Amino acid sequence: MGQLSLFGPNADGPDPKPQSDQAVRLSVLITVKAAPNPSERHGETVCVAGLSTDLERRGWIRLYPINFRELASDDKFRKYDIVTVDAKPARQDQCRESFKPLVGSMVNVRHLDPWKPRSKLLDPWVEESMCRLNRDARADHSAQSLALVRPLRVDGLDIETHPGWTADEQRKIDAYVNQLDLLSSEPRTSLEAPRLRAYYRYHCHEPRCSGHPAGTTRLGVRSLPAAPRPPVGRRTARCRANKVSRRTVRSHS
Ligand SMILES: [Zn+2]
Repeated sequence: MGQLSLFGPNADGPDPKPQSDQAVRLSVLITVKAAPNPSERHGETVCVAGLSTDLERRGWIRLYPINFRELASDDKFRKYDIVTVDAKPARQDQCRESFKPLVGSMVNVRHLDPWKPRSKLLDPWVEESMCRLNRDARADHSAQSLALVRPLRVDGLDIETHPGWTADEQRKIDAYVNQLDLLSSEPRTSLEAPRLRAYYRYHCHEPRCSGHPAGTTRLGVRSLPAAPRPPVGRRTARCRANKVSRRTVRSHS
C-alpha cells in the first residue's frame, strides 16, 4: 500500500480547505473527466478530478466548472495528463477537495504513460473500504469526498438507456443556447443527453459489505476505465457539483 510513500497521504489525514480565497497554482494528475452537465450559471460544464502532484498539497482535487466546449476533443488534456492550473477554493461546494479553476490558466505539462509512473503516484491512495468512506460522509459533510477504491470483486456492469434531460436540465440548456455570445458568431447548439449510463456493482473489502449497487450509493463521479467509452459528449460519467458523496471507482482486477 505504500503508506510511507513520499507521494502518499499525510498521517493526519486530508488537508482542510484553504481559508484564503486567493488563487493558488495546482499541479494535478487528471484521472476523471466527467460527462457534461447543464449548468444555469456556467452553461455546459464538466467536472474534472485528479490527484495533486504537489508535495505541499497532497490529495485529491476536484475542478469545477470547466467549460465543456473547450474539452470537446482530447486536444486540451487527456486522462493521465499532468496539468497546472490556477484555482480558488470553491465556496459554494463544501467538499474540501473542490476548487474553481481560473479560465485560461490551465497548462498541459506532460502525459504519464504507461502504468508504472501512474501507479507510483496513485497506489499509495488506494482505499479498501467504500463502506467506511460512506460512513464518514454521512457523519461529516466535510469528510473525504473523492477516493480511489480497490474492489474486492466486481459483480457486474449494468448499462441502461439514459432517460434524457429532466425538464430543469433542458431549461438550463435552452437558456444557454439562447444567450448572446459576444465572442463568437457561431450559433450555439444544444447539448445532447448521453445515450446510455452504466454502473459497476461491486463489493469492497469491508467484511460485512453488502455491495455497492447502482442507485443506492450516490456515486457522483463514475470512472469506467475497463469499459468501451462512448464518444465525448455522450459519456456515462456524471459529476454532480453540489453532492457530498463522490467516489472514483477503479478496478485493479
Ligand atoms: Zn463496501
